[in-house]
Amino acid sequence: MEVSQCAPQEAFRDLERAFRNWRAGRAGRPRFKRKKSLDDHKARLTGSIRVSPRHVPLPRIGRIHTQERMEKLLALLQEKKARILSATISREADRWFVSLTCEVERPDPVPREGEPVGVDLGLMFFLVLSDGTRIEAPKPLAKALRRLCCLSRQLSRKQKGSRNDAKTSLRLARWHRRIRNLRRDGLPPVPTGRAKTQPVLVVEALNVRGMVRGRLARSIADVGWGMFLRFLAYKAQWYGATLIIAPSDFPSTRRCSGCGWVEPKVPLSVRVFRCARCGLEIDRDLNAAWNLKPYGLTVLNGPTGSSMGRWGPHAIHRIAWGPRWPVVIGAAAER
Ligand SMILES: [Zn+2]
Repeated sequence: MEVSQCAPQEAFRDLERAFRNWRAGRAGRPRFKRKKSLDDHKARLTGSIRVSPRHVPLPRIGRIHTQERMEKLLALLQEKKARILSATISREADRWFVSLTCEVERPDPVPREGEPVGVDLGLMFFLVLSDGTRIEAPKPLAKALRRLCCLSRQLSRKQKGSRNDAKTSLRLARWHRRIRNLRRDGLPPVPTGRAKTQPVLVVEALNVRGMVRGRLARSIADVGWGMFLRFLAYKAQWYGATLIIAPSDFPSTRRCSGCGWVEPKVPLSVRVFRCARCGLEIDRDLNAAWNLKPYGLTVLNGPTGSSMGRWGPHAIHRIAWGPRWPVVIGAAAER
C-alpha cells in the first residue's frame, strides 16, 4: 500500500519524544511492539485535512465514510474557531478508526473561587465527596471477565500460527475492545458535572500502575480511575475550576479528620476509621474526603496556619522527580 510521507515522519517524531521522556526520567525505555499484535497499530497524518459531514478524505488513502456525523465540527471549522492538526488512523481488532486532533477556540473560563471539595476515590463507592455525596462505581469488567478468561484459555490451546489460532486471537482482541469501550462509556458523568459546579476539587494522586500489580488489581483497573483523573483535569481547565492533586503519600485514609492524629496503619478491610486519640468514628472514605478538603485549603492559602504538619505544601517538594507536588491544575495555577 502506498502511504503518505508523513506517516513515518510522525512515527519518528513520537519515537524521539519517547526517548526524550526516558532520558528525563519521566518514562521507561521505549520498547519494540509485537508485529503480530492486533491492537495499537497507529499512523498519524498531518497536513491539510478537510472533512465533510459523513466523510474524511485522507491523503493517499481516499474518502473514508465515518459513523459519526461531524456537523458540529464543520460549523466550528467554518467559523474559523477550530483547526484540524492531524488525523490518527488506528486499528482495534478488526475495525479501523480515524480520530482528528483539533485545536478549538474556547472562551477563557472565568476562574471560580470558593470552598474546596475533597474527593476520595474508593472501591466501595467510586467517589465520596467531603459534602457527603457518594457515587457508585460502574463495574462492567466483572461481567465481561469470565468470557475473557475463557477466550484466552481457548487461544492457549491453539497451535501457533494456525488458522484457528488467528481466528481465536481476533475474537479475543474484539472482546478486549468491548471491555475497553464499556469501561470508557461506563464512567459516571461526574467529571463534567463536578468541574462545572465545584470551584475547587481536591483529589489524591494515584499510583495506578503500582496498585494494579497488587491483589486489588482487577477492581481498580475496572473502575478506571486513571481515565477519570485525566477527564477531570481537562474539564477543570475548561470550566475554570481548580483541581488540586495531593501527593500519593499524603495519609488521607490514616489521618483523623477531627484532630489530625495519624494512625500508623489502617488496613483496607477496616471500613470505619477509629481515632486512637480523640475517639472519632467515621466512614473510612468520608474521612479521606474530609482530610483532602483542608489539604486543598493549605495549598490555596499557603503554609501559614497549616495544620497539615509535615504534609504541608513546603514539605511536599522533597519528591525530586516527576511533577512537583502539589499539582494544581486550572484557574488557581494561573493566579
Ligand atoms: Zn482524632
